[in-house]
Amino acid sequence: MPVSARGDSKVLVGVDYYPEQWPRARWPIDAKLMADAGVRVVRVGEFAWSEFEPAPGRYAFAWLDDALQLLRQHDISVVLGTPTATPPAWLIQRHPEILPVDPDGVRVGFGGRRHYCPTRAVYRRYAGEIVTSLADHYREHGAVIGWQIDNEFACHRGGCFCEECRTTFQRWLQRRYGSLEHLNETWGTAFWSQTYTAWEQIPLPARTVAVHNPALRLDFQRFVSDAYTEFQDLQIEILRTRCPRHFITTNLMGLFDELDYFKLSRPLDFVAWDNYPGYHGPADPVRTAMAHDLTRSLKHRKFWVMEQQAGPTAWEGGVDRSPPPGLLRLWTWQAVAHGAEAVIYFRWRTATQGAEQFWHGILDHDGRPRRRYEEVARTAAELAGLELPPDAVPETPVAIVLSYDDRWAWKIQPQHAAATFDRRVGDWYRMFRDYGIGVEFVAPGEPLRGYRVAILPSLFMLNDATAHQAEEFTRTGGLLIVGPRTGVKDETSRVRDVPPPGPLSELLGVEVDEYDAIGTDDAATVDLTLPGLPSLTGRSTIWSDVLGPRSADVVAVYRDQYYAGRPAATLQMAGRGAALYVGGFWESGLLDGVVRWALRQQDLDAAVVRRSNAHDVEAVVWRSAAARYLFLLNHGDRSASLGLAGQWAELATQQPQSETVSLQPFAVKLFVAR
Ligand SMILES: [Zn+2]
Repeated sequence: MPVSARGDSKVLVGVDYYPEQWPRARWPIDAKLMADAGVRVVRVGEFAWSEFEPAPGRYAFAWLDDALQLLRQHDISVVLGTPTATPPAWLIQRHPEILPVDPDGVRVGFGGRRHYCPTRAVYRRYAGEIVTSLADHYREHGAVIGWQIDNEFACHRGGCFCEECRTTFQRWLQRRYGSLEHLNETWGTAFWSQTYTAWEQIPLPARTVAVHNPALRLDFQRFVSDAYTEFQDLQIEILRTRCPRHFITTNLMGLFDELDYFKLSRPLDFVAWDNYPGYHGPADPVRTAMAHDLTRSLKHRKFWVMEQQAGPTAWEGGVDRSPPPGLLRLWTWQAVAHGAEAVIYFRWRTATQGAEQFWHGILDHDGRPRRRYEEVARTAAELAGLELPPDAVPETPVAIVLSYDDRWAWKIQPQHAAATFDRRVGDWYRMFRDYGIGVEFVAPGEPLRGYRVAILPSLFMLNDATAHQAEEFTRTGGLLIVGPRTGVKDETSRVRDVPPPGPLSELLGVEVDEYDAIGTDDAATVDLTLPGLPSLTGRSTIWSDVLGPRSADVVAVYRDQYYAGRPAATLQMAGRGAALYVGGFWESGLLDGVVRWALRQQDLDAAVVRRSNAHDVEAVVWRSAAARYLFLLNHGDRSASLGLAGQWAELATQQPQSETVSLQPFAVKLFVAR
């Protein structure tokens, strides 16, 4: 499979453009300004249904033809959005049942966006018709290169609770379980007298007294995810048939967890996502990095940023901080460093009307180019000069197994409020990234072969297939690290009738004897002694697994709490590899010890050896058949210096780099191994 969706290693710079929101007289000025800034691709049309089809069956594409003609004159390519996130007023008037219903049974009104039920057959028919008309009209257009389907599936709301969703859910369950006996048994409906004797009795997890059966809630989440995937697939089918030369993608939302992004991504040529690091508070560059890496991991290939923050954002909670000079450039380079092959800024010009009037684009309301325009133009010029071999990709020796089933199961029954995704998964990600060690996310069932370290970070819901893969990975030389609450449930939502880590107990040589949800007001003290590493003492919060080693060695012990002296982590050699169980949410000092030990154990070379004041500097290593590359990105607004491991030269100048490298605020440097 080619690493680039376009067979080209040049990074594309683009903008999201809404010609329908501006006077025609402005369009030529926009196209010229875009071209002058180095814009090579534009996304259009993703909310323009009422302009494309002003009345049922009456299509109006001439306005977009004219706009695309201008773009084409400037050699700018076009990604067309299908407008199905915004069914027009005439359609809702005709079929108000398209509007989704919330968990309280209230049908929401027209007036925002994403106001549709994903399962409604009548909506699917209308959506199919507008997509077909667009596809037929633009299949041979010289500027159009591909399609974005819909926009941010399930944003604002996940499931719909309408009557059609209920019957569709019941049919979905019938297909899944075959018989009511099987469903009753799998869900455990004997609990609270919930045994179903007809499919029609099964509710949606709408508002009820007390709480719903977690198995029903999990299946509903799967059903919702499947409904959006189906809705996408019907559009893909139309576009594949009619526009075989065009690529097809959709714009996802990074760490968003309502939909199974692995499944949703499967039929796409590549995935894209919308990146707003400064929305609602200061940017967290590691979180953004994690979102980039997860997006790349969905298809294990390069991706696009379909919307990249281009100015201060604002939804309803006031205007966010303005990105200072240099930050748009840094965010762009960060995307590229994680594998983005196109960065499209949202949006070209700030809207003067509509709900996003203060969600700023490259140009302000007045349309005059200012510093953000200049910065985008400079960045585009830099990227045009970036020469990396087409086979160069981020080097990712560490795999984190990520499962949407598990994320949903955890959301339904969070084992502790403080055990957020960022604590369960993000902490491990951060610790490896701190050394410039790349991470790839892997879906359950995907091969772990080729990775050196695999992490099952609190994989609450663990299926047997993933457990088998983890075992094979370990026995063939991998280092497996397993976090607390892994293997508690099977994929039906049943708590296993063996102690955690369930199917991994034998491989890890340990069982959890008991546990204490210690929380964050208290902490357990842990002494960690890994082979060949000086002992460390640190705090463990949120959760304490009290371990009963069966055949594993104890490598960490609680020093206090009622389980003082009992094991907190164990290590077992297995085949040619090793399996480490970590029984709590450890503070960074202890996790750092684990990571340093893991790197040594698996012969992994950290790119960054010494940080001191450089915690805001991100290091990303790439590898091609012929060379290794190192991106350094200073996310801090102060200068920083750090120590590098190995011999590097600056790529642009080929000047050898000394062991210590200094970076100005928001600086980006790119090195090649010597
Ligand atoms: Zn519905």
